[in-house]
Amino acid sequence: MGKTTRGAEGRGKASLGALRPLLPYAARYRGRMLAALVALAAASAATLTVPIAMRRVIDHGFSAEGSAVIDAYFLALLGVVTVLALASAARTYTVTTLGERVVADLRSAVFARLTVLDPAFFDRTQSGEIVSRLTADATQVKAVFGVSISILLRNLFLFIGAVAMMVVTSPRLSVMVLAAIPLIVFPLIVSGRGVRRRSRAAQDRLADASAYAAEAVGAVRTMQAFGRSEATAARFAAASEEAYGAARNSIRARALLTGVAIFLISTSVVGVMWYGAQGVLSHQMSAGQLSQFVLYAVFGAGALGQLSEVYGEMAQSAGAAERLAEILAAEPAIGRPADPVALPVPARGAVTFEAVRFAYPTREEKPALDGLTFRAAPGERIALVGPSGAGKSTVLQLLLRFYDPQAGRVLVDGVDLVRTDPDDLRARMALVPQDPTVFSGTVMENIRYGRTEAGEAEVRRAAELAHAAGFIEALPQGYHTQIGERGVTLSGGQRQRIAIARAILKDAPILLLDEATSALDAESERAVQQALDTLMRGRTTLVIAHRLATIRAADRILVLDEGRIVEAGTHESLLAQGALYAQLAALQFTDALDETARGKGQRARTETLPAAE
Ligand code: ATP
Repeated sequence: MGKTTRGAEGRGKASLGALRPLLPYAARYRGRMLAALVALAAASAATLTVPIAMRRVIDHGFSAEGSAVIDAYFLALLGVVTVLALASAARTYTVTTLGERVVADLRSAVFARLTVLDPAFFDRTQSGEIVSRLTADATQVKAVFGVSISILLRNLFLFIGAVAMMVVTSPRLSVMVLAAIPLIVFPLIVSGRGVRRRSRAAQDRLADASAYAAEAVGAVRTMQAFGRSEATAARFAAASEEAYGAARNSIRARALLTGVAIFLISTSVVGVMWYGAQGVLSHQMSAGQLSQFVLYAVFGAGALGQLSEVYGEMAQSAGAAERLAEILAAEPAIGRPADPVALPVPARGAVTFEAVRFAYPTREEKPALDGLTFRAAPGERIALVGPSGAGKSTVLQLLLRFYDPQAGRVLVDGVDLVRTDPDDLRARMALVPQDPTVFSGTVMENIRYGRTEAGEAEVRRAAELAHAAGFIEALPQGYHTQIGERGVTLSGGQRQRIAIARAILKDAPILLLDEATSALDAESERAVQQALDTLMRGRTTLVIAHRLATIRAADRILVLDEGRIVEAGTHESLLAQGALYAQLAALQFTDALDETARGKGQRARTETLPAAE
């Protein structure tokens, strides 16, 4: 998987090869492509008839019977121009919409792929970088499909047509021109590679700047509270400047390519003209013939010049295409096995960890779980406690199969997680994270998040059980109030209750709970606690506990330290052991102080509040 995000700069493949993975997206629209081709061919053919008319006019039009001939040819020319105009309009429309169409599909495909990639991918890739791929890179690619291909095909038609007509007009002169073409094309192809490499670097730098911006915008309050606005702006400006520098390098390479192409092409045309002029002087060809030939040569040369420019543009987009193709090609490390084992029905909710060893991919040297073994019986409430960094959250992440263990097994209802379908597995779990996310949308949509088909009455019932109905009904539009980024901001306790309602509605046999550490005011605290009690009833629950109340309600407490279970038992038995748990209990649980204050630990009170005496 590492290869998916690393640069492919070192790869020596042809510069436009990077566009190949995108071709299937265009191939879906054969009809549109055919229409575009017809329009292109018509426009090119119309252009190519102009020199013939020119020749006739020059060779015959200025003689005695001239006036009638001139009228006829100019009339014909008018017809040609009309065809040219219509065909060009059709070409612009078909090709440009094709570009928009392809890029819209491509963007959706990249995003769809992102939604299934495993969390390890996101550990390695910054979110701003991903957004940059979806926006900046997709826009670059659009330039290829929308404009460049049109210019490319038009000029290719024109070039081939012009060359063919040159051969018809004067084979001798044509030989000279054709001999020069390889000399012109070869250096162009070679320099195109440099363009692609530099463009890739430019897009990478742009993504760095976007990633930095996304992070800063996400943490704007922290940034301002610490007076870091100027420093942040300066750092972004520096990143943006780097992106500019890299883009300039890429454009410089393209400009050089264009200049070289125009020089080579024009020189060859001038050379041929000189040679042809000699021919007219020695009466080997007529003036009209030379004019016709030169017009074709100019068309051909112009087309070749534009082709080289388009080639530069496409090489530049290839850098962006490469970055998109990387995401499209990324395979989720966690997927559905070829022959998945079905989880037993009905679900029981048994959870087993067997000698699980796991280290995060970004921190392979230090295992987050180290030989972890435990079993949760169906319906059992297990509290996970331990110092910060002990591995509590990691247990939940493995159970959701966001990562696979390096050794040992995790089982649900007797089935090894790696052998079953992750979607089925996750359908059996409800997660209430520590700091729940509220998505942009209505309260109703947010509660329905895990079961979109639930009826309105069910949603209301879940909200009531989650002790959320009261505050929801007090919102301006009740359940239809917009919340999240573009709506009403909810308090921490309110968000937690929305998350609990979401979990109640999902009604899964296994409940994963990461209790909030931040202290809520007494009333929300009680509401959240009651909501949780309702939620946990009848479900296997693994809770990362920070409150004494939760721990007391647990059937069993597992004390983790450095990825291992060091103690297990009930609150009383563990306190009696007087080891790690007893220490944690005294320091960590947010409501333990209240407990002592209520008179259980007079000694503790006098120790912590000596001034009160
Ligand atoms: P806390 O109570 O502070 O949340 P925890 O017991 O839940 O801690 P974990 O989050 O499970 O601890 O972390 C266990 C170890 O794994 C820590 O050393 C942590 O730094 C590391 N870790 C956690 N998540 C990642 C990640 N995505 N990538 C790399 N290392 C990680």
